[in-house]
Amino acid sequence: MCSLIDGAAPPLRSGGIDLPILNPTTEEVITRLREADAAEVDAAVTSARRAFDSGPWPHLDINVRKDILYAIRDRIRAHAAELAWLECTGAGLPLQRVLDQVQRAARSFEFFAEVASTLHGDTYTQTKGWLTYVTREPKGVAALIAPWNAPLALASMRIATCIPWGNTCVLKPSEHTPLSVRRLVEILHEAGLPPGVVNLVNGRGSVTGAALVDHPGIDLVGFTGGTATGRAIMTAAARRLVPVALELGGKSANIVCESADLERALDGSLVGIFANNGQQCLAGSRIFVQRSIAREFIERFVARTQRIRVGDPLEPVTEIGPLAFEGHMQRVLAYTKVAQEDGARLLTGGRRAAIERGWFVEPTAVLAPSNEARVCQEEIFGPFATFVEFDTLDQAIAMANHSKFGLASYVWSNDLDTAMRCSREIRAGTVWVNTPMMRELRAPFGGYKESGIGRDGPAASVEFFTEQKATIIPLDPPPMHRFGA
Ligand code: NAD
Repeated sequence: MCSLIDGAAPPLRSGGIDLPILNPTTEEVITRLREADAAEVDAAVTSARRAFDSGPWPHLDINVRKDILYAIRDRIRAHAAELAWLECTGAGLPLQRVLDQVQRAARSFEFFAEVASTLHGDTYTQTKGWLTYVTREPKGVAALIAPWNAPLALASMRIATCIPWGNTCVLKPSEHTPLSVRRLVEILHEAGLPPGVVNLVNGRGSVTGAALVDHPGIDLVGFTGGTATGRAIMTAAARRLVPVALELGGKSANIVCESADLERALDGSLVGIFANNGQQCLAGSRIFVQRSIAREFIERFVARTQRIRVGDPLEPVTEIGPLAFEGHMQRVLAYTKVAQEDGARLLTGGRRAAIERGWFVEPTAVLAPSNEARVCQEEIFGPFATFVEFDTLDQAIAMANHSKFGLASYVWSNDLDTAMRCSREIRAGTVWVNTPMMRELRAPFGGYKESGIGRDGPAASVEFFTEQKATIIPLDPPPMHRFGA
């Protein structure tokens, strides 16, 4: 499996590196990934540059561009089962979850096509005798870098927010989970996207990713991934003075108050931490429960956790599949010991699941002595819930904010003042009240603090992916100083 440049596979070079791509359910090699080196990255950026500087894409009538984006939506829907199968096989995500993500990917292309088709400028006529108008233009060639935890959902979101304005791009998905994204980029071309608008390069971050971000032909960088990588990418981008948008890690607080509908809070807290195999930036991984209800709530949470169906992600009944790759499974498992060293009590799980093959981890819950414990401060990124008890809302909000992250937060309460206070005082990009992780495409999504810079969403995407240009015209040519006259 290789890159896709100008809509086609590049010529196979001798001496390249092939990375094995493994199925996390069976641990078997599915295919080999030919890593794009600096020369191949250069070919991809050159293609995107050509498509932007002299290709039709940025200059197409918006209705033509919109028709192509709608055709992409339709073709993704037509290939939903195939894309979902690839995602389950390559990333281990449960089928039902992935089918939803494929539908959302299709919807994203439709939605941002609509936004682009209603984009308009401003006119200023207040200054007598002058007309000034402001137009928006696409910004150029974007490097888009995506992670492995929801490969299709996150790569498609990056592309769908980038190309409708007329930009072109080079996409680099994670080297761990390239399957579904490779097929997605083929589908974009089958739907009529001109060659060069979306190029795909595959390979490790340190090789292919670094070459892409450093390439002089790149005008902007959109990155979704870990905070440490985001920092490295921003440093590289700063050397070339190109803008970056960063969607990074999280350690979101999930506050369960005694005033909550506890049935819904229980369901929502389980979804908040265990959906997507626990591998999600917006997971409600720090569960703060009010002491008056803590014992019963935690007991019920543990009982439900022990009944979660862990297994083959292609089985429709499966709720949690394997973690995406072996190294990640080992990292998640290591947190059982970390928790215990910090004085946390293991409530359930904490081991590799008793399944013959595959990188399965038992859904895990621990009760930490305080929010200072490492399991409260570090992103574990697996099916690993950490409980801490609290007495007052002041304490819960203080703990929620005592984190280097600020991506999302959850509050469960039927008391309006409590909900509104959490909304006002929690330093996070999203506050979900009495619901887990509803994504509204129209609203901005992104993080405070080390959870990111910039937002996804229509307004933020217009800001990031377009340039503003002011054109100034005198209506009654005013007198002008005549040098040397
Ligand atoms: P990662 O940072 O290890 O890798 C992300 C991508 O960056 C991969 O494609 C990788 O190859 C590439 N990369 C790595 N080093 C690079 C470099 N020096 N230059 C260029 N590219 C490089 O992240 P991950 O482990 O794949 O993903 C998990 C992380 O992503 C978690 O921290 C999670 O919270 C975060 N995430 C955030 C959001 C969000 O919207 N905020 C969404 C999903 C995941």
